[in-house]
Amino acid sequence: MTKVNSTPLILNGRHLADEVLNNISNEINLLKSKNKRIPGLAVVLVGDNPASLTYVNNKEKTSKKIGIYSEVHKLAVNVSETELIKQVKLLNNNKNIDGILVQLPLPAHIKSDKVIEQLDPNKDVDGLHPYNLGKLFSGQDCLVPCTPLGIMEILKHYSINLSGIHTVVIGRSTLVGKPLAALLLGKNATVTIAHSKTENIESVSRTADILISAVGKAKLIKSSWVKNDAIVIDVGINKVYENGISKSVGDVDFENVKSVCKAITPVPGGVGPMTIAMLMANTLKAYKKND
Ligand code: NAD
Repeated sequence: MTKVNSTPLILNGRHLADEVLNNISNEINLLKSKNKRIPGLAVVLVGDNPASLTYVNNKEKTSKKIGIYSEVHKLAVNVSETELIKQVKLLNNNKNIDGILVQLPLPAHIKSDKVIEQLDPNKDVDGLHPYNLGKLFSGQDCLVPCTPLGIMEILKHYSINLSGIHTVVIGRSTLVGKPLAALLLGKNATVTIAHSKTENIESVSRTADILISAVGKAKLIKSSWVKNDAIVIDVGINKVYENGISKSVGDVDFENVKSVCKAITPVPGGVGPMTIAMLMANTLKAYKKND
């Protein structure tokens, strides 16, 4: 990968996601042509958080586009934990459903961990059940959280070598940072996880050959955080208002960093589309295992 005229290579997650979705759609068409059952995905949404609604709509739209059977179960914001678990159990036993996703965050009166533990691990397409996370950390095949999986696919697609490479992951959530660290270790990268309590985070970040930010703070990462010719993966999605217009930006100050790094994922159009594509890939994987 060569950098030309201080312009970094843009790691195009949208194109890659389209390619992945196209392949899945072809597989589903083949199942249909053989009169076989098609994969099914159920999304459970509690309440009407606008961001969650957008995510759920996108998931449903993508499922339908590629031929995955899709159900969305909308529950009232004040639904009890017991009622929510009852819904999860119904879906566990539904033979037309291969993947179940409980959209997070859940309202404060519901313990997410308790709900996720009730999912059938073989239908846990978000990869957040302790069974799947345990398998991931012990290097076994399992359903892997979609965003880290999407990042690994981007790195693979662009033939980015990981063996022995120093990767700094900023953010230690169960959704992104921690599972990503496990996947990177699995490819022999040297991994540092930095987070809100890390001292001298700017200098830690500057040691990265590959820098991955999953924080949720607009324009946190400036050029002074980035080593020359580093590869930068921006996971953050942050809503900002510029000139009265709302738009999504990442954690990385793109304009500031672009002259320093060798390659970078844009926001939008980088990790985001790959997350949805990996959800569809996980649904197909669960289908193949469960059928
Ligand atoms: P989270 O809030 O669970 O975790 C954020 C992490 O950032 C924490 O581990 C915290 O220690 C760390 N952090 C907070 N402030 C920091 C600081 N100033 N310096 C260094 N570290 C700091 O969030 P999450 O669910 O992991 O998501 C992170 C971001 O990624 C959000 O913007 C979210 O919207 C985005 N996201 C994007 C996708 C996608 O598909 N692109 C998927 C999931 C999450």
